[in-house]
Order: sequence, then C-alpha cells, then structure tokens
Amino acid sequence: MKVTNAEIVISAVSKKQYPGDQLPEIALAGRSNVGKSSFINKLINRKALARTSSKPGKTQTLNFYKINERFYFVDVPGYGYAKVSKSEREKWGGMMEEYFQSRETLQVVLLITDIRHEPTKDDIQMYEFLKYHELPVVVVATKLDKIPKSKRASFIKRTKETLNVEADDIVLPFSSETGEGKEEAWGILSKYI
Ligand code: GDP
Repeated sequence: MKVTNAEIVISAVSKKQYPGDQLPEIALAGRSNVGKSSFINKLINRKALARTSSKPGKTQTLNFYKINERFYFVDVPGYGYAKVSKSEREKWGGMMEEYFQSRETLQVVLLITDIRHEPTKDDIQMYEFLKYHELPVVVVATKLDKIPKSKRASFIKRTKETLNVEADDIVLPFSSETGEGKEEAWGILSKYI
C-alpha cells in the first residue's frame, strides 16, 4: 500500500477516547522495546511517527494512528517490563481487557516477538489471551537483521513451537532495519482493511 497520509489521532487511556469513525483497526501487541513502533514506522515509511524509544515501559496509552483515512494501527502498551509497579500492571491489564474484549472494529492483532529470543511467558500468555478472545493473530518475529541467515529457519521453528501457534496462524520474519518482510506484511494486512 502506498501511504500518503498518516497521523496520530489519540493516545487513549479509556474506551470513551477511542475513535468513533468505525474504521478497521490493526493492533500491535508485544513486550516493551520489542519493536512495535519501529514496525509501524517501517510500514508507513516514516522515521518517527510512532514513538520509538530505547527506554522500555514508557508508553501506557493505546496510540491510534490513522493511515490513509482508511484504517488504524493501534499501538498497545508493551508488557514484560520488570520495573513497573503492581498498580501500573493492573491498570495495564484493565486497558487490555477493555480494548481486546469488546472492540468491534478490531480486525487482527500483530503479536510482535524478537526472533533472537525464545518467546517469554508473557508472550505465550498474550497469544493465549488473544486466542481466547477469538481474535485473528499474526505473529511478527522482528529484528531479523540481528541473526545470521543460517539460523532463521530454526529460530522461526522455535517461535512457533514455544507459542504453540495454531496451524493456520502466520509467523512472519521481519526487520524494521532492512525492511525485509514489509511487502509480505502489507499482503497479509490487506485482507483485513
Ligand atoms: P516498542 O517499545 O515495541 O515500540 O519498540 P521500538 O520500536 O521503540 O524499538 C525498540 C528498540 O529496538 C529501538 O532501539 C529500535 O531501533 C530497535 N529495533 C526495533 N526493530 C528493530 C529491527 O528490526 N532491527 C534492529 N536491529 N533494531 C530494531
């Protein structure tokens, strides 16, 4: 897709702030610092529309990015950051439930993982949570540029096995650094928007 327009519409903390224009939404979930914002920026050819950060655990809002007046990318706050307090974690959980449980315009969730690492307990929980809510999931294994080509197949296999990914679910190798996987990503997303 040729992106001609991309803007952040709202950083929401509760349901009443979600956009009301009924456009389809593609959400991104994953650990803090895994590369969610970089994925969005790469797909839409912007250096920094979505805020990237080397400090994990900062964004505690649902960020709605409107693309070509046609759909939204929704950047969901990351998980797995050890230094957040219990009350912050509970707040995060509430926001997740509120969004994933009842958002009718949500079409698919991209679960972003780091291809270098075995998916964590939090990743597994998130995958299971999304499945429980019967949401379509695409796993994006990012930071592909950080591993040698010879290891790709075995790392993808490990990601699939650890997450216990259902046979029909896609695991897409991706790199925000090189853009590898970008065309495939748009191909997959075009079915949902
Ligand atoms: P977020 O917290 O999930 O939104 O993660 P960010 O997009 O802010 O990325 C966290 C860090 O990882 C940043 O320093 C990015 O430059 C880096 N990063 C993200 N994706 C990639 C990738 O595909 N390859 C490499 N080499 N670095 C990446």
